[in-house]
Amino acid sequence: MSESASNFIHDFIDEDIREGGRYEGMKVHTRFPPEPNGYLHIGHAKALYIDFHTAEKYGGLCNLRMDDTNPTKEDEEYVDAIKEDIHWLGYDWGDRFYYASSYFGQMYDYAEELIRKGLAYVCELTADQMKDMRGDLTKPAVSPFRDRPIEESLDLFARMRAGEFEDGRMTLRARIDLSSGNFNMRDPVIYRINHMRHHQTKDTWCIYPMYDFAHPLEDAIEGITHSLCSLEFESHRPLYDWVIENCSVPAKPRQIEFARLGINYTVLSKRKLRNLVENHLVSGWDDPRMPTLCGLRRRGYTPESIRSFHERNGVSKVNSVVDYAFLEHCLREDLNRTARRVMAVIDPVKLILTNYPEDMTETFEVENNPERPEDGTRIVRFSRELYIESDDFMEVPEKKFFRMFPGNEVRLKSAYVIRCTGCVRDDSGRLLEIHAEYDPNSRGGNTPDGRRVKATIHWVDSKTCVSAEVRLYDSLFTVAEPDLADCNYLDFLNPESLKVMSGAKVEKSLADAKPGSGFQFLRLGYFCADSKDSSPERLVFNRSVSLKDSYKS
Ligand code: ATP
Ligand code: MG
Repeated sequence: MSESASNFIHDFIDEDIREGGRYEGMKVHTRFPPEPNGYLHIGHAKALYIDFHTAEKYGGLCNLRMDDTNPTKEDEEYVDAIKEDIHWLGYDWGDRFYYASSYFGQMYDYAEELIRKGLAYVCELTADQMKDMRGDLTKPAVSPFRDRPIEESLDLFARMRAGEFEDGRMTLRARIDLSSGNFNMRDPVIYRINHMRHHQTKDTWCIYPMYDFAHPLEDAIEGITHSLCSLEFESHRPLYDWVIENCSVPAKPRQIEFARLGINYTVLSKRKLRNLVENHLVSGWDDPRMPTLCGLRRRGYTPESIRSFHERNGVSKVNSVVDYAFLEHCLREDLNRTARRVMAVIDPVKLILTNYPEDMTETFEVENNPERPEDGTRIVRFSRELYIESDDFMEVPEKKFFRMFPGNEVRLKSAYVIRCTGCVRDDSGRLLEIHAEYDPNSRGGNTPDGRRVKATIHWVDSKTCVSAEVRLYDSLFTVAEPDLADCNYLDFLNPESLKVMSGAKVEKSLADAKPGSGFQFLRLGYFCADSKDSSPERLVFNRSVSLKDSYKS
């Protein structure tokens, strides 16, 4: 990682290293702590980028930890998907894969320690009562159980664990400061009863630690030095530090917050994304319109483009919304370098070269990528009957239309200059075929006399081309900020976010296109073979991004 990508997090770490103290002799150690209740999205990739690159910059380590302290919505299904997505992005946690739930025993012991120190108590207020008694800025919170004897709390806490009480009957609260201006410090609940089976610990526990208590302990147990998290945890930091200070943990991690990534025209919340999936508004978590990493991957995004996107957005303390067009810009830039250029016609119409011999076939050797001669060349076939894009033809041309119309000359990319002579329609006026004559002296696309030909169009050979389905995508939502608090994001779903072109024709070299590999379909954009639905028998291509860059830097 380059020095120029330094940021305020690195400044804090530099400061910690300089001062020694609690980090003396320790390697910088970060962690990525996803809750396994959904698939990772592009926002998580920002956190991944920060966690892994920070560790890398300091020659340190980054753990992967499933933050599975809440059994309610979690599922083993997500764990493997999360690992796959992180590896795909190019990050590796080595053998440091952990479950927060495997520390439940230690967390219980730390909670008991707090009770013994007079720093936690069992409270019998219901959730509603607690809310009513939390006070306000001028009035402190109240709990009648705050001064309950230590022995009594120890006994009740043990009985909570033993399953004697139903859900919600009592909680364990940290005894901090009922009048704190920070409500997170007003004796927060640190354990609650929840008779629910956990996907890892099964039926061992019926009490579960709250996030704010569990997270600092998880970090400390793993020897994390810097716990990097998003900005919404800023006001929880005093509680984080309190837990670290008052439990006899083996390390003293420091929490540093950074701004969350927001992108326009989409939503970045697992709950909202799950909603789209469960209501069948998209085809799944990996629908190519989703901002999930599996969705972006299926769409044709490369790990390089996503890492570059995060690197160039930088790390700050101020939440902001990044233009979706910038994400596309990063992909386009990467694919422009690497993608093989091919020809495909997504809305084909037959073109007949009436002066071209019926039984003749020619081949042209074309470069795979003019930007990278080392990618070599390939052979494309040419014959009397071709397909071209139907919107490259107008029988009566509009102003400034320079492509195919009767009497006009165009260049067939890499092949010949042709002159349109007319078209054939059926009784209902539907266009059946276009006729043209080729100039035999323009092989390669150059006119022998240097006469100017304005337009160049793409084509495929009708004899050798292959049929395919092409899926064109637009943004999932019609408005820039679909998840503003006071509206329902589902009202803004874009009904035209997917357009299926089922009769496309692609050049023969695409017949064995590997799922995921990117191509530039000349004049149309970057595409990849769909990893789920495409097969040699039935090719399906996704448009990853169009050629036109709408990003303004
Ligand atoms: P969501 O709101 O989408 O459900 P989350 O924060 O609940 O996300 P976690 O699984 O808890 O999801 O997130 C794991 C890590 O990713 C956390 O450290 C979190 O701060 C970070 N993260 C999540 N969303 C973003 C985002 N949009 N930008 C930056 N970091 C994020
Ligand atoms: Mg979370």
